[in-house]
Amino acid sequence: MTATTRMPLATAPGRFAGTVVIRGGRLVDPARGIDAVTDVAIRDGRVIDVGTVVDTSGVRVIDARGLVVAPGFVDLHAHLREPGFEYRETIATGTAAAVAGGFTSVCAMPNTEPATDSPAVVEFVRQAARREGSARVYVIGAITAGRKGKVLADMLELASAGVVAFSDDGDCVADPALMRHALAYSVAAGRPVVQHAEERALTTGAQMNEGSVSARLGLPGWPRQAEEVIVARDCELAALTGAHLHVAHVSAAGTLDFIRRARAKGTRVTAEVTPHHLTLTDDLVGGHWWSATASLPPYDTRTKVNPPLREAGDRDAMVSGLRDGTIDCIATDHAPHGTTDKHVEYAAAASGISNLETALGSVLALVHSGALGLVEVVAALTSRPAAVFRLEAGTLAPGAPGDVVIFDPDREWCVDPAQFASKGRNTPLAGHVLRGQVIATIVGGEVLHDRS
Ligand SMILES: [Zn+2]
Repeated sequence: MTATTRMPLATAPGRFAGTVVIRGGRLVDPARGIDAVTDVAIRDGRVIDVGTVVDTSGVRVIDARGLVVAPGFVDLHAHLREPGFEYRETIATGTAAAVAGGFTSVCAMPNTEPATDSPAVVEFVRQAARREGSARVYVIGAITAGRKGKVLADMLELASAGVVAFSDDGDCVADPALMRHALAYSVAAGRPVVQHAEERALTTGAQMNEGSVSARLGLPGWPRQAEEVIVARDCELAALTGAHLHVAHVSAAGTLDFIRRARAKGTRVTAEVTPHHLTLTDDLVGGHWWSATASLPPYDTRTKVNPPLREAGDRDAMVSGLRDGTIDCIATDHAPHGTTDKHVEYAAAASGISNLETALGSVLALVHSGALGLVEVVAALTSRPAAVFRLEAGTLAPGAPGDVVIFDPDREWCVDPAQFASKGRNTPLAGHVLRGQVIATIVGGEVLHDRS
């Protein structure tokens, strides 16, 4: 079925008090090993049944024939920017972007202003999410007070306030003694520590991956070792403390060796990779021939991201690592910025990509090329991230939250950031055609996004 012949969803988006039946789609629920054409029924916000529904009188029917039906995507790593940076994103716009991209659960990083280092800020985010949010929002607490890397935040208090993990993301916890203590406290808190692995002594002034492209462009290079040495160190500290270390946005091929080695010794290490590190390389940094005439910077600042885009060998290693399980899941590192953050020279530009709305279309390229299976990609966006943070999400088993994404893996669309729900229009994919688009997103039985 093509986009032009698709029937619209049966009814308009919004709250529906009764039963919802999603009919005739290809249900992919990796948590239960299901990949079959069948129906899904949701009542009172939860899945009640999977299988052919015979009697649909009095229920709302959503026609999903020809489409993939999967558990709503789970993002362990999103920057929603509120409080403090509302010109970049708010909880309302960030979660609207999430559901537009098929994500029904997002974990909010604590690099806000103030940082999420106290129960009061955790509560602020949770209340704003309840009031204005579309997707479910889980809160990640800071590791150190103010994310300054000097003294630990009260991690046990944060755990009581409901955070699902701890991170100073945006910055690395550089001090190994502090990291050791954070890992030790995380054991008592029963939550993982998420490290942004960056040895700053190796990245000061660095603008892009250190390699042949940085040499050609004359931009200071950011070596892979900046990531690898921190991951190597933290794996040892996780072993020492018995903690669960989660490595954010793996970008360097060598990092995978340290993760594998730690796992082989029984250390609890998990890892995530972004859509851009799975699909893009530093060849994009040089921008385009029209940059000079379009009064854009000579380098494409939309490619500036932390950690940087690497080379083809790293990108291919990320795909292999996801396939063999060294990398647990895909996380967006959604990092919206304002125009003024990016419309400057490369060295002054902020790092990050507005990623929630292009994540699925990006990673489906790996399915279309045969590098990954559709079920593998869905698992990396649903059951696997949910398992890392132990969230009640990522499956459509009876009793599970009625959070569903319906997508067309073949529908082609051109990325137009002006159409984003996110305030962040910063993406190197602007103008690119992606194959695979979210058609509808359902949270707790409510259709919150409908592009049919
Ligand atoms: Zn980070």
